[in-house]
Formats: sequence, C-alpha cells, structure tokens
Amino acid sequence: MFPALISRQPLNTAKTALRFGELALDYTELSTVAGTLARELRASAPPRVAVWATPTLYTSVAVVGALLAGVPAVPVNPKIGERELAHIVSDSTPSLVLAEPGAVLPSALAALPRKDIELTGTPGELPPEPGPETPALIVYTSGTTGPPKGVVVPRRAIASTLDALEDAWQWTADDVLVHALPLFHVHGLILGILGPLRRGGSVRHLGRFSTEAAAKELASDATMMFGVPTMYHRIAGEVGEDPELAKAFGRARLLVSGSAALPVHDHQRITAATGQQVVERYGMTETLMNTSVRADGERKPGTVGVPLRGVELRLVDEAGDVVEAAETVGEIQVRGPNLFTEYLNRPDATAEVFTGGWFRTGDMAVRDTDGYLRIVGRKATDLIKSGGYKIGAGEIENALLEHPGVAEVAVTAEEDPDLGERIVAWIVPVEAAPDEQELIDHVARLLTPHKRPRVVRFLDALPRNEMGKVLKRALPQPRETS
Ligand code: ATP
Ligand code: MG
Repeated sequence: MFPALISRQPLNTAKTALRFGELALDYTELSTVAGTLARELRASAPPRVAVWATPTLYTSVAVVGALLAGVPAVPVNPKIGERELAHIVSDSTPSLVLAEPGAVLPSALAALPRKDIELTGTPGELPPEPGPETPALIVYTSGTTGPPKGVVVPRRAIASTLDALEDAWQWTADDVLVHALPLFHVHGLILGILGPLRRGGSVRHLGRFSTEAAAKELASDATMMFGVPTMYHRIAGEVGEDPELAKAFGRARLLVSGSAALPVHDHQRITAATGQQVVERYGMTETLMNTSVRADGERKPGTVGVPLRGVELRLVDEAGDVVEAAETVGEIQVRGPNLFTEYLNRPDATAEVFTGGWFRTGDMAVRDTDGYLRIVGRKATDLIKSGGYKIGAGEIENALLEHPGVAEVAVTAEEDPDLGERIVAWIVPVEAAPDEQELIDHVARLLTPHKRPRVVRFLDALPRNEMGKVLKRALPQPRETS
C-alpha cells in the first residue's frame, strides 16, 4: 500500500492514484515522484516544511513526500490573508516552503528557502518508516471561533482514523473518490487524499466544485464523494430540477458530508430526488474523525451516527457528570488513538482541552435511544440560554430552513433583560424577504413556542469561510444593523 503511514505493503501498479484535471499519477509514478522528494528532504532534514496548498496534484505530492520523509508538513491556505499567514509562519517556523512551479508566494513565505514541487523523479529506496508518534502534519484549525491553532497530528492518528473509516464506510481499493475540497484542512487532505491512498483507491479532484462536474464523475466510474454542507445545499437544489443529475448522484455508493452540520432539509431534498441518503460524519482537526453514520447501518438525517471503531465518546453535563439518559444535552468528550498530540507552542491551550485523558470538543450533543449522536451546536456560540431553557441553535436553524422563503440561516443569541438571552435569526431569503412574524410562528409551530426567534434580521449572504462554515462571530453587531 502507498503511502503507508504505518504499514507498507508494496502496491506498485499502473492504477491511477490521483487525478487533478489533466494531471494524473499512477501508484508507481506517485511512489517515484514522492519518493524522490522524500530522499531530498531527508538529505537536508528541515525540521518542518510549509506546503503552499493549492488544490492540485503538486500539493498532494508535497505532502506525501514529506510524510515519506518523516518531515512534518504545514499546509497553508493559498488564499490566506497577511496577518494569518504571519501568525502561521512565526508559530510553525518552517525552514523550507514547497510550492508548485510558478506559484507566486506572499512575502512571509517568499522570504524562506523554496523548493519547487516536481512531478518527475527517479525510482529508489524509500526512507525508513518514522515512528507512529512522529508528527506528520501541523494543521491549523478553521478559525471559526477564534484565531486558528496549530494542531500537531501524529502519524498514528491519521492511520487510526483512516482505518476506522474503512470499517465504517466499507471503504476499499475499488472506491473512486470525487473530491472538490481544499487541501489545507483535515477533510480535504487527510480524508480526501491520504484516505484513498491508504486504501489503494483513486481520487478525482475537480479543482472547483460544481454539481455537474461531480455528477459527471459519478456517472462514469466514481463511487463516493466527500463534501461540505454548502456543496450538498447546491446539489439539493440542482438535482431537484434535473433528472439526469439526480440519476448520477443516485448511482453513488456513498455520499459523505462533514465539517459542519448538514441541514435536514437539504438531506431530505437529496433523498427525494436521488434515492440517496447522505452519510454524515463528525470530526475536528484535533481529533480527526469521531463518529459517523455507518454504510451498513440505519441512516438518520440530522445525526452524525455512532462513535467510530476505537473512539471512546461520552457526553458530560455542566456539573461535570457523565450523561447516560437519551435526549439529554452534554458536551462531547473523546478519547482514542485518533487524538492529536498538542497545540503547537500552546501548552496552556493544550492543558485546557484535556481532562483526565479525555479531549473536550466544545461541541454539544444528545444521544438518541439507538446511540446515534445529534449535534446541538458549539458550546461557545450555539447554546442559547433563554427564559430558563437551554436551546441549541441548530434545531432552530433546521426548522427555519424548512420555510420556503428561507435560503440560508444562522441563529445566535443576544442579551435580553427579561429572558437572559433572546434568540436572533439571521436570514438570507430565497427572493423577497418573508414576513418576520410568519417565520417566528413557523418555528413556534414546528418546535415549541420558547424556541421561536424574538428578532429576525435579513442579510444578502452569511459570512462563511472556505469550508462553508458560518462565522457567527463575523455577523454584524446589533448596533450596526439597527
Ligand atoms: P476553530 O477551532 O479554529 O474555531 P473549527 O472548530 O471550525 O475552528 P475545525 O477543526 O476545522 O475548526 O472544525 C471542527 C468543528 O466543526 C467541530 O468542533 C464541530 O463544531 C464542527 N463539525 C464538524 N463536523 C460536523 C458535523 N457533521 N456536524 C456539526 N458540526 C460539525
Ligand atoms: Mg475547533
């Protein structure tokens, strides 16, 4: 198998490993090209390399080469802003940057020694396998709740998460993955590139996502797709209009969603048009994957399934007690071989997130009677305390998305003298803004009256990052809108 993170059975075949548009490498070629880079890296032994992570074959080769060399790689978002880049460079102190030929680098990276990534090489010995605790990657978190933190991901965590997903998704060498995600986060890089390589399968990267391009791959030989909810939102709209597209998605063996909550409404629209039930999984940079709906299990829209093999998971309430009862909210805490080593240069932050070996995710969830987890939201931003009730923003968001006039929504809380916090709904309307009272009544009718928004605000678009995650902290402050 190639690249073997932990085990390395030989797999030198002419099968396509990675295809990005016109550029492709089979397993023999990838082994040669990445092996050549790995030998060069071993010769100069930089403590860490930055990878200019464009969504290309070059980035994949750079990361695989660094993994084979045992040199920790720091993937960098090519659209990164100056301030964030300065932070990442001074935090991770790479001594070399790997970039595709011709890429123009911002000054913070251009100041470093650079090596152009090549797609040619000479066959030769691979360096000896680094130990399982060797840092493989330093991945910065998405920065949804604050400045991104550098997560040190050991080889052991990658191998264990990918093998747990093999089990949950019945993932094999025959799977061909449609991929359109960026390569500087766990989802696109570890699951989307290293996953198929560990299985001996193939990747078809679209460069830029479109429903049509994904459908074209699925209509030919692709078997699975990994996407984020904003992609499935587009798919949900388009498969409803076009039976050919619906047919292509209907052929997929597995459509997987993650990185943020998949609205139930989109899930249902996709099922209605294609017969497919999207599989949702839940993970983080720090933990890689924690739970998933299993390929061979019951699919339940709105849930992220059950703990993956090897992952211990518990819900803990505010008093610090483990929640046993179904449908009771607690913070998700996890333990297992999938966990990261530490936040880079942040012993304080690392110490804060661990409690007796358990990692506090900061995500709140309930378990149903079958043990399926439903994420209620993040403790920091999505748990609203209003009128003595604890209410998850996600549930209200799902309800609002069922209203025909609502295209996108984010629910937040604002201080309220009577309620403690009042529920605020930020709405991107489909066309003309629906009547506010009608939206409020819609939630009161679908859920319960105390979950209804007290304030409705309309926006042209929600602030989102490249993964499509809503940046609630970037929503206008009340003063700016009133
Ligand atoms: P930061 O930690 O910098 O604020 P982030 O938490 O968004 O950013 P990531 O590590 O990329 O950075 O994302 C992990 C988070 O994404 C989880 O903690 C969870 O809140 C959310 N998430 C991932 N998958 C799902 C899912 N299927 N449903 C709901 N939320 C999800
Ligand atoms: Mg986080």
